[in-house]
Amino acid sequence: MTSSIRLGRVFGIEIGFNWSLVFIFALVVWTLATNILPIEAPGYPPLLYWLISAAGAVLFYACLLAHELSHALVAQRNGVKVAGITLWLFGGVSKLEGEPTSARSEALIAGVGPLMSFAVALVAFVLSFVTSGSILVSALFAWLTFVNVLLGLFNLVPAFPLDGGRLLSSLLWWRSGSRQSGVHNAVRVGRVFAYLMIAAGVLELFLGSVASGIWTAFLGWFLLSAGAAEEAGSTVRSMLRSIPVSAAMTSPVVTLPDWVTVEQFLESVAPNHSFTTYPVHEPSGTLTGVVRLSDLVRMPAAERAQKHLIEVARPIAEVPVTNPREDLSALIQRIGSGIEQRVLVFDNGSLVGIVSPADVARLLTVRQTLGGGPRRS
Ligand SMILES: [Zn+2]
Repeated sequence: MTSSIRLGRVFGIEIGFNWSLVFIFALVVWTLATNILPIEAPGYPPLLYWLISAAGAVLFYACLLAHELSHALVAQRNGVKVAGITLWLFGGVSKLEGEPTSARSEALIAGVGPLMSFAVALVAFVLSFVTSGSILVSALFAWLTFVNVLLGLFNLVPAFPLDGGRLLSSLLWWRSGSRQSGVHNAVRVGRVFAYLMIAAGVLELFLGSVASGIWTAFLGWFLLSAGAAEEAGSTVRSMLRSIPVSAAMTSPVVTLPDWVTVEQFLESVAPNHSFTTYPVHEPSGTLTGVVRLSDLVRMPAAERAQKHLIEVARPIAEVPVTNPREDLSALIQRIGSGIEQRVLVFDNGSLVGIVSPADVARLLTVRQTLGGGPRRS
């Protein structure tokens, strides 16, 4: 879900969609215009079916968005950062940076989605009566009622990444007191459901409903791999919980005068160090920003002699900071994807290190090799 196209912002939350959605959008319009509406409300001109169906598909995605927005807003209320919402093939995904701090907030964040879908279904149900003057429009709202009930029910299936999986995990977390074991056991239950779906899909194949069989089996396989990914992610986060920033940071740090040119830097400084990031300072010694080697080498050769580091540096006020004792999971929860831009580590006012995603990845590899890795059951 990397290639998403921006749609805009709602309540400060970035909304985008994935290309796969265009395909499903067309499929929804086509199904409505050629199958559902002509059967439910016969006798209208074909063009009208297509127009109403296109409007229906837009409303359908608005319903998905309402579902995802409810997750995102409740997450924000519970102190979990929301990176954005991406609509794609199976509906929507709210990307949360960090994780809920209690079983209660995890249950609220997960549970509100299906509730929202049921609420939207209720509204669509009422509208189908209000619009009963036009059988066609009324049929569209009846269909929206049906799909939203289905969406709510499907999301309650107790398998990751569906809301039901998260609800189950929060329940197990609440009972056991450990998020890690909650996720672990919820993944095991989810795996059973995923295998059941695959088996049902294969059975359907043999019984002759090929398309529906493939679809069911594919969904099962998807839930299976999503469960495994969830567990791996949760293991990583719990490993990071016990590791202080000092264990991951690169130290000591080389700082550079911010008045040298990019060319001087690339010719005389960069070849002598293995660092990828350098804080820069003014003549008084005060830090003014951070430059990344990867940004500087990309600069056109003609500009390198003219530009000084201060002009290309990321201003110091925008650079996230930490201290050597903060644990890595808290850091990542706090700054989210900000770690891509490197984090400066200060101890009693002096710069003692830098943390990059590569530092964290290297540390995890070492810890896993030493036997703290995810256990299989
Ligand atoms: Zn949901």
